Amino acid sequence: MMSTSLLPLENASPAHICPFDQACSYLEEAARELKLDGSIVEILSKPRKVVTVSIPVKRDNGEVQVFAGHRVQHCDILGPYKGGIRYHPSVTLREVSSLAMLMTWKCALLGIPYGGAKGGIAIDPKLYSVGELERMTRRYISELIKDIGPSVDIPAPDMGTSAREMAWMMDTYSVNMGHAVPGVVTGKPISIGGSRGREMATGRGVFIIVREALADLGKSLKGTRVAIQGFGNVGSAAALLLYEAGAKVIAVSTGSGGVFCEAGLDILALKAYAAHNHRSVVGFPNAEPISNAELLTLPCDVLIPAALENQITEENVNQVQANIIAEAANGPINLQANKALEARGVTVLPDILANAGGVVVSYLEWVQGLSYVFWDEERVNRELEQLMVQAYRQVIQQSKVRQISIRLAAYTLGVGRVAQALLDRGLYP
Ligand code: GLU
Repeated sequence: MMSTSLLPLENASPAHICPFDQACSYLEEAARELKLDGSIVEILSKPRKVVTVSIPVKRDNGEVQVFAGHRVQHCDILGPYKGGIRYHPSVTLREVSSLAMLMTWKCALLGIPYGGAKGGIAIDPKLYSVGELERMTRRYISELIKDIGPSVDIPAPDMGTSAREMAWMMDTYSVNMGHAVPGVVTGKPISIGGSRGREMATGRGVFIIVREALADLGKSLKGTRVAIQGFGNVGSAAALLLYEAGAKVIAVSTGSGGVFCEAGLDILALKAYAAHNHRSVVGFPNAEPISNAELLTLPCDVLIPAALENQITEENVNQVQANIIAEAANGPINLQANKALEARGVTVLPDILANAGGVVVSYLEWVQGLSYVFWDEERVNRELEQLMVQAYRQVIQQSKVRQISIRLAAYTLGVGRVAQALLDRGLYP
């Protein structure tokens, strides 16, 4: 086991609790609730393997730029490491490490036989050509070739990556192996073994969890006022499904700003608008402009942060008015804000449950690939629905039985399953 002291303290901002410490503090809380032995917490609070590779890339103008690419493999007690690869300027090794840990609990909570991992490169992909991104992706995967594989570690899309990057990764790995290995990544294009329904899967999972939580509160989706921060793959899919089910999506934002409409936005028209407007919703007709910060504090029933970490903090939590918050992003609510929301009785649907739809359909993609049988979208959605609803019910039940928050209930289930597997497998040697 490697020590977390191997994680350099780069970018650990003193103003905010570091994301890795935040992830560890949820782990410790769950361990206290489960009365786990200290040695188990010690093992699970450290990533098993941390890899940082240097990626020299020839730019289109002939200059060479060198990137640092990370892959953190947190835990493989339940199965191969699994988790996305993020291309975003804010990527740090500590952030990737905390996200890898979240993947471990997420997979265990959903009952899918994977461990947790995450990868990332600090880059703003918008500033690079397709050719440059392809060269960078292929070199990154070449450097990781011995660390990944269909039964070792299976990357997937995350912020800034999509089916296109997965195809480059699958091809690079396959060429190096000398034969096609579709199972090395998930979230691939359908033409090379991707699953139907994968692209909408995370948003669909968010939709299912919000629908279930509303039903538990005796409310229906019809007329429910929803605000969504982020209109990328996850936010836009969740928005569309909520809109189609009759919810009023009153505000949506992207990095460049947002739009608000009291009567509810036409999400189909907004998707078409964003597609022709460099993915921005700014300037959408018949709506008022709204900032990202204003969106979070709007009067609404359901708030869905579907963008970055640390959006709801001690600075704005008192202004947040939603009764339900679904964490479509990973870690959008910080530790202090989470405490304040719990004290106020706000229903917080935690990331490891709310955004698990993506990795669930990644699992379904992997299963289809390994069995050489591919399903129609209806079957994929049905299986996703079943796994999401089952996990939701287990979490709510756990929260009632133990009289704990929904987040802590989700963590105790995820952490508890991994801890049990660790005890059953024992320590080698
Ligand atoms: N990046 C997604 C997540 O954070 C999906 C990971 C996967 O499909 O492996 O859950």
